[in-house]
Amino acid sequence: MTNQLNQVLLHENNQVGSNLEAWLANGGGEGLQNALAAPEAIIKTIEDSNLRGMGGAGFPTYRKWQFVLAEKDAEVKYLICNGNEDEPGTFKDRLLLEKTPNQIIEGALITALATGVNHLILYINPHEEKAVEAARQAVAQWEAHPLFASVADSLGRPLTLRVFLSSGLYIGGEETAAISSVEGGFPFPKKKPPYPAQHGVHGQPTLINNVETLAHVTHIVKHGAEWYRNLGVGQASGTKIYSLSGDVLHPGVYELPMGTSLRDLVFEYGGGMLAGKEFKAVFTGGPSNTILTSEDLDVALDWDSVQERRSRLGTGAMIVISEGTGIVKRVTEYVDFFADSSCGQCPPCKIGTRQISKVLRKIDTGRGRRAELDHLVNLGKLLPGSGRCALVDGAVTVLNSSLDKFKSEYEAHLIDR
Ligand code: SF4
Repeated sequence: MTNQLNQVLLHENNQVGSNLEAWLANGGGEGLQNALAAPEAIIKTIEDSNLRGMGGAGFPTYRKWQFVLAEKDAEVKYLICNGNEDEPGTFKDRLLLEKTPNQIIEGALITALATGVNHLILYINPHEEKAVEAARQAVAQWEAHPLFASVADSLGRPLTLRVFLSSGLYIGGEETAAISSVEGGFPFPKKKPPYPAQHGVHGQPTLINNVETLAHVTHIVKHGAEWYRNLGVGQASGTKIYSLSGDVLHPGVYELPMGTSLRDLVFEYGGGMLAGKEFKAVFTGGPSNTILTSEDLDVALDWDSVQERRSRLGTGAMIVISEGTGIVKRVTEYVDFFADSSCGQCPPCKIGTRQISKVLRKIDTGRGRRAELDHLVNLGKLLPGSGRCALVDGAVTVLNSSLDKFKSEYEAHLIDR
């Protein structure tokens, strides 16, 4: 496969589990040494690399870091390494934590040197027991290693590193919800501002980066920004990990150059569709984004190209479905997930997602009328932006996208069609 040369995070040298000495013997630690030698240069390197947040939003990583660095007066700053990963079809962070916890921790230590954060928290979904265990073992080894003390010396303040088990709820991955969890509360998302960079854990500046983002940092600081940029296809930079699932021959986790086409992901690396199945669509970046169809197969999988199709790369989850899969049924399942995951603080989210799910189920089971389909269309217009967090928007995006691209399927289910 052509991606082998460009595998960075999933390279076999990194997959030494929690064994720190093996990681260091295989080229690990060099990024951290570079960072210790010139901590003030790290953010510029990350800016030049074009690294963006891999947890879904795709926000430029260096900008987030600058906000936290700017809080010069704070004596305490936190980093939450977000490994809550709970959205359907997303399973890359679990693998990274299980197989390569050292590159994530090294990335967190480099981040500390760049931004001045001194409390590092690996925030992991407790359902991922192997990931939790691997992370705990790696943390114990790093804490006892002289490199850890060197980072503390460079920071000039006490440095802590620990594993924190999230609530295991989907909503716990939202930034402000993660902060509430770490403070010991229920993961209720909060309205922003204030933003975590100014007012996070216990009111202190807090940086929240996804597991995959921090893993990239380790290699960028080791090899340089230009090396990283050149890993991508065309103008795209670096690599991206995809969780590929659904009706493909070889579902799994793939690290590919950023900018690889959707067609190559599905038909070359994923082995194409299961025998006798025809490609229909992809729920892209998890089920909270716009659905891509066969018209989009040649889209380059990079942040901007996918956004031009009014979708998002998101977490890199790609759920492939084949002709014959009912869109209404599938969207009902995803909206059910969001309705079940709603924390209930915002009535439009709590009631609206349930209402959508109820009408969808009615239509899917052949009991719906045109007026109810019109009701769905109206809900899709009314609900966006009505919640404190993006959960309700995610549910509505998948609904609206399915109505936009597969309206005839909805109509075919109606009693009064
Ligand atoms: Fe909770 Fe939904 Fe409001 Fe988000 S939008 S805070 S999940 S009720």
